Amino acid sequence: MRIVPWNTIRSWRCDACGICCKHYQVVLKFPEWLNIVKNFGVEYTAPSINQFLLRKKPDGSCVFLYKTANVSYCSLQNAKPQACKLWPFKVLDKPKYGRPNDAVYYYGNRNLFIYVDSACTGVRFGVPTQYFTYSVIPEFIEVALGVRQKQFKSTAIL
Ligand code: SF4
Ligand code: SF4
Repeated sequence: MRIVPWNTIRSWRCDACGICCKHYQVVLKFPEWLNIVKNFGVEYTAPSINQFLLRKKPDGSCVFLYKTANVSYCSLQNAKPQACKLWPFKVLDKPKYGRPNDAVYYYGNRNLFIYVDSACTGVRFGVPTQYFTYSVIPEFIEVALGVRQKQFKSTAIL
């Protein structure tokens, strides 16, 4: 895993490879956990002493992941946990992963620091495009700040 500042990335688009839904454990907020328990049953969550987690299938993939041909689908879609909506982006108040000049993003009268996990197969390195800078990143920020639920530019387009 290599976390890089957004300003080193030309563009990003989820290609629905499903890798992130298999190799990472999704940590839920309590209301998200409660929603899943109410709507699907406690068996869709994983037992844990100090965290709320999604259950995984025996092959390691998320219980809500479905695959047809080579395309992976999340059956929760807009009801996905916030951690899933934000992956592979990290929206922070401080430059936790370094290179603050490349990570800083001015949004709503303040500086935020945006990083991307380069393990995502949708990352393309280079000089950021206008679309990535002014459409994709702001949507991730809005998801992180809780002012947006639905995603259009920050999710797979299939
Ligand atoms: S976010 Fe990245 S790793 Fe996850 S499914 Fe999309 S392209 Fe694959
Ligand atoms: S909830 Fe959806 S997006 Fe999140 S890990 Fe499961 S399948 Fe992937």
